[in-house]
Amino acid sequence: NKQVIFRDYITGFPKETDMVLTTETIKLKVPDGSKAILVKNLYLSCDPYMRSCMTKLDGKNYAPPFTPGSPITGLGVAKVLDSDHPNFKEGELVWGMTTWEEYSLITMPDGLFKIKDTDVPLSYYTGLLGMLGLTAYAGFYELCSPKKGENVFISAASGAVGQLVGQFAKITGCYVVGSAGSKVKVDLLKNKFGFDAAFNYKEEHDWDVALKRYFPEGIDIYFENVGGKMLDAVLLNMRVNGRISACGMISQYNLEEPEGVHNLFCLVTKKVRMEGFLATAYLHLLLKCFDFIMPLIKEGKITYVEDTVEGIDNAPGALVGLFTGRNVGKQPTEVEAI
Ligand code: NDP
Repeated sequence: NKQVIFRDYITGFPKETDMVLTTETIKLKVPDGSKAILVKNLYLSCDPYMRSCMTKLDGKNYAPPFTPGSPITGLGVAKVLDSDHPNFKEGELVWGMTTWEEYSLITMPDGLFKIKDTDVPLSYYTGLLGMLGLTAYAGFYELCSPKKGENVFISAASGAVGQLVGQFAKITGCYVVGSAGSKVKVDLLKNKFGFDAAFNYKEEHDWDVALKRYFPEGIDIYFENVGGKMLDAVLLNMRVNGRISACGMISQYNLEEPEGVHNLFCLVTKKVRMEGFLATAYLHLLLKCFDFIMPLIKEGKITYVEDTVEGIDNAPGALVGLFTGRNVGKQPTEVEAI
């Protein structure tokens, strides 16, 4: 059983060497009476929140820390090989929390979701048909109450969450602009996801000037994925009664000291509502969200770009690449295709 082991807690940017590949011999059988299930992992999700799990518990963690010396934990798609649990049968497909290894013994499988629709790529359950679909859905519709004609700005817009929010905003009839870190990503935003405009933030010297160019009348809704100086520039450009959905702040995750936001008082003067959220608080909407997204996929009304790497050996590199923008779209690791 090939595994990706978390070495030890880190500071700064994560490196591939923070994870070690090992192999162990296991029995492909669930112990009798254990109520556990044994799964073959098919897809492992690489997500920015996993950086927070690489830091010792300090009150600022975004999710519980990994255990040094144990396999990385994360969301994935898997097939049940053996079960001692009444709710799971051999051959069923599931998504939810698993471990970065070829085979996982899941001792508390009740939190897993069964996959019934298999006529879409199974990797979608690490993205738009899983927690990231819920993140985009709840963060945009529940927190921002978008209205037709409103001006929407999305940072890290070509990523797993951003590309969905942009397409939801277009379906709602909004004017949508995204920022991303390369020409390829900017082209995707404009030509594949239907954004009205997009810019490469790495090529703009002054983000306040760039935002004024795309939003001469200001921004009604900002879907925040990066934080730091981008948030500061956006605050200056928010319209009165604007909404900011604080989904993530990836530009801050590897810094020892957060970069200062100087324009926070704009929240007061412009009566802007900024609200942080975690998708896990909206699990009650998961089915509603699934029923909203699945027809959009099937009718070709939304598209989803993935940047799948093959082989569990490549999972550490894929995770680290999120923090340099190497991924173009959602980043899963394919352990084994079926
Ligand atoms: P992405 O697929 O967008 O991958 C991460 C991207 O972030 C990179 O490709 C890169 O794109 C961008 N990035 C990396 N470093 C920086 C930086 N220093 N400054 C600006 N951009 C950077 O990831 P997700 O869509 O999965 O996640 C997007 C955000 O949503 C993250 O902040 C994440 O933590 C958050 N999130 C929050 C959830 C919640 O429940 N609140 C759930 C899921 C995600 P580029 O090349 O464009 O810079």
